[in-house]
Amino acid sequence: MVRKYALLAFAALPGCLGDKPASNACKKLKNEHPDKTYYGLDPRYINANTEYYSSSSWLGPACVFEPSNSTQMSDAVQALKAANSPFAIRGGGHMPIANAANINSSGVLLSSFGLNQLKLSDDHSTVNVGPGNRWSDIYKYLEPYGLTVVGGRLGHVGVPGYILGGGVSYLSNEYGWASANVASVTGVLADGKVVKATPENEYSDLFWALRGGSSSFALVTNFELKTIKAPTVMIGMASYGSDVAEQFIDAVHSFTTEGSKDAKAATIPMAEYIPALGKPAYSAILFYNGVDEKPAALKSFLESDMKVTSNTFSNRSMSKWCKELDPALSLLKGSKQRFYVLNIHASNKQAITIVHDTFMKVAKESLPLGVLVAALAFPAVTEKFITASTANGGDPQSLDVNGAPYIWVEESITSAGLVDDKDVDAFYEKANGQIVKNLQAAGIETAKFIYLNDANPSQDAFGTFPPENLERLKAIRAKYDPDRVFTDLMPGGWKLA
Ligand SMILES: Cc1cc2nc3c(=O)[nH]c(=O)nc-3n(C[C@H](O)[C@H](O)[C@H](O)COP(=O)(O)OP(=O)(O)OC[C@H]3O[C@@H](n4cnc5c(N)ncnc54)[C@H](O)[C@@H]3O)c2cc1C
Repeated sequence: MVRKYALLAFAALPGCLGDKPASNACKKLKNEHPDKTYYGLDPRYINANTEYYSSSSWLGPACVFEPSNSTQMSDAVQALKAANSPFAIRGGGHMPIANAANINSSGVLLSSFGLNQLKLSDDHSTVNVGPGNRWSDIYKYLEPYGLTVVGGRLGHVGVPGYILGGGVSYLSNEYGWASANVASVTGVLADGKVVKATPENEYSDLFWALRGGSSSFALVTNFELKTIKAPTVMIGMASYGSDVAEQFIDAVHSFTTEGSKDAKAATIPMAEYIPALGKPAYSAILFYNGVDEKPAALKSFLESDMKVTSNTFSNRSMSKWCKELDPALSLLKGSKQRFYVLNIHASNKQAITIVHDTFMKVAKESLPLGVLVAALAFPAVTEKFITASTANGGDPQSLDVNGAPYIWVEESITSAGLVDDKDVDAFYEKANGQIVKNLQAAGIETAKFIYLNDANPSQDAFGTFPPENLERLKAIRAKYDPDRVFTDLMPGGWKLA
């Protein structure tokens, strides 16, 4: 495995290609923290540079710095500023945008991997979590206590990017955004100061900004997450084969408008077009926070007209679920991934049909060569999700409850490593242009909010936040980072204009 990526790592040998400011910062970090600073052939460098969901992110930074505590993270911020060196910071590396959480040899990569602390509070009401963890680590740690958290729907996903964007969980229809269930965030400010932000303390404005404003405010070194009692849940995947489009759309509509009124239920219905087969296949991840094997809320997926070809819906812990599904994700290593998100009002079944039919038609006609799967997922975002998210001072997204329930249609494309992201984006532009045109022809408007963790870089996610919240976010950035270190020197990811 290490040998496979060695050539790529060579491109970033210090002094070969690293720009002067970056190589100066690397030298300083290596001097001060020799065991935390890695160069090109070090397996830890190779790991940090290639453990991304999309291989578009294998950019080859000048060096990798992997702090183990907030003080070391603060040292890094000060060294990078002093050298005027560009940098990036990574968590799980799941944002499928090349430079969101990595940088080429012009800069330094700060890896969160060394910040992997996990500590339950004495009264078990919160758990301290380092940003180097993945959700599966947290579920596994909490399993013996019969606890869980409002976290990722797949265990392999990283913690920091997910929470800083908001975070949609199976539990969100009950508890809101994952970020609404955070008790405190510790991070390093642009001047190197380490602060702990809570909804009540002097950093409550920063706390609010970190609930969806992404990476322009602080480098997070710890999240304190509220725990939830749920030793086991009902979870699994049901597959329905192909040629069931109409019944599948019925099920999506019925769950979103009726089933999801039971806040304990959640689904991720998926329609996946596989060019090699020439048609879509249908499946759904089904979740219920309880022990009922046939919850009425999930009737449309468990007892529908669709023939169930396989079904793993059963009672187990979140940790066991992750163990079942996560190994499949590692098979994707080396492939490219790209997202796009479309927000529709779910009440109108025709909207779901138009999105599905148009996407599949354009996929059949115009997917770039080398695409392996082009998928649509139809998770419901309910009224309860939105009202629960107003806890602890609300969030910068301030979702509009009046249009609920929504479906945030997650479009994802998996391709062979040689496929250019630009060609995938051209497909997205064509497919979504056609979808919007067809919706408008039917008199249907799309909903406004664009979730940045699922968005394509061409989408203006911040532009869909309420304007007054956007202004507040900018004021908070100006207060804590007047020199725009986390915006200009750390340019990747979702930044406020
Ligand atoms: C397979 C898959 C499943 C997913 N499932 C879900 C889901 O269930 N729900 C959901 O809401 N989203 C989901 N997502 C989207 C996911 O939330 C985003 O990709 C998110 O950014 C992942 O977090 P990460 O830590 O892995 O991100 P990274 O790609 O590592 O980073 C994302 C952004 O956060 C910044 N960042 C990273 N670490 C820090 C830090 N310590 N301090 C400050 N900024 C930092 C990075 O610089 C970057 O801009 C999924 C994505 C994938 C690929």
